[in-house]
Amino acid sequence: MVSQNPIFIPGPTNIPDAVRHAIDVPMEDMRAPDFPAFTLPLFADVRKVLATRTGEVFLIPGSGTLGWEGAIANTLCPGDRVLTCRLGQFSTLWSTMCERFGLEVVNVDVEWGHAIPADRFARILADDTGHRIKAVLACHNETATGVTSDIAAVRAALDACDHPALLFVDGVSSIASIDFRMDAWGVDVAVAGSQKGFMLPAGLAIVGVSQKAMACGKTATLPRYTTDFAAMQAANAGGYFPYTPATNLMRGLRCSLDLLLAEGLPNVYARHHRMAQGVRRAVAAWGLSLCAADPATASDTVSAICVPTGVDPAAVVRAAYEHWGLSLGVGLAKVADRVFRIGHLGATTELMILSGIAGAELALRDAGARIELGSGVAAAQAWYEQSRPAAARAAAAE
Ligand SMILES: *Cc1c(COP(=O)(O)O)cnc(C)c1O
Repeated sequence: MVSQNPIFIPGPTNIPDAVRHAIDVPMEDMRAPDFPAFTLPLFADVRKVLATRTGEVFLIPGSGTLGWEGAIANTLCPGDRVLTCRLGQFSTLWSTMCERFGLEVVNVDVEWGHAIPADRFARILADDTGHRIKAVLACHNETATGVTSDIAAVRAALDACDHPALLFVDGVSSIASIDFRMDAWGVDVAVAGSQKGFMLPAGLAIVGVSQKAMACGKTATLPRYTTDFAAMQAANAGGYFPYTPATNLMRGLRCSLDLLLAEGLPNVYARHHRMAQGVRRAVAAWGLSLCAADPATASDTVSAICVPTGVDPAAVVRAAYEHWGLSLGVGLAKVADRVFRIGHLGATTELMILSGIAGAELALRDAGARIELGSGVAAAQAWYEQSRPAAARAAAAE
């Protein structure tokens, strides 16, 4: 009998018990006079996680994908030119969405496993002296390949030629897990989702919007309704919504924000880095490599791991699930026959990650990979022991 299936997919992530309990509350009246006493501080704390003082934040019932749509529909006109980089499945899908919206898309394509080449963006933007490009789309953490890109460098590419284009950032698998700075990086629309770093069920698009992007709404002619930022801003100002908000998810969000802010965002980011390092040590001990071509860009929230020749990554993921009750991430699209993924974001502890690594070892062997049992676990254990935060090390030495 299995009542628990800890998941090591890069979203949805494991939900802390406190968050699960916070969601389990009766329905409430979203027009009640005291509802704003709950929502207004909630918006303020979401701003802290996005690191914006001046931006608006919106909680839209839907998945992260709806946030992508909101960014486009609220700021652009049909035929507008946008610059994107396709570096994996998620960045590719957002680019495809732009085409569906009738935008003229300039794609920079890189081999999957590489980060956004900010220098190529810089050249294209510098050549665009007529400022035909209205928005630059960047995926901060490409979840399909486990690659984190440098958003500050994309900002610098825009600033170097004083380019006025908006900067949209997909932070669905980075925000609340990897350092993200909406204001400092001049991000105009930041997109997150509830089911990744925020440790909630899916169902909320969490979107940050700069005042510059809000102003674009006045002239943007693409149709929008569900994601209408202006309607949301007007209602949110009083603590209400233009339509029924997902109150239970927002109660869960209150709890998750309390956990994140109590831990301290720098500590949350450091914890994710430390957890990820353990997984990376395990991968190296197995003799395998990451899809991320440059170790400096390897993601702290998800590792896409290349399987040995002759091993089917789908068989690894299936064996993990069927034999060991463990959910690993499948390879997506172009890298489906090359990688499987271990998600290590959200509510995790060393022991949880070690169990995921142990399960991955068993599943890799089931799928025919010659992995020495315990090799990855031992490497990760050694890392977790040596990298313990100072306070924990001192306590252990007493
Ligand atoms: C998960 C994810 C999305 C899609 O979010 P949904 O909530 O599934 O719609 C978009 N971008 C990235 C980078 C993601 O990891």
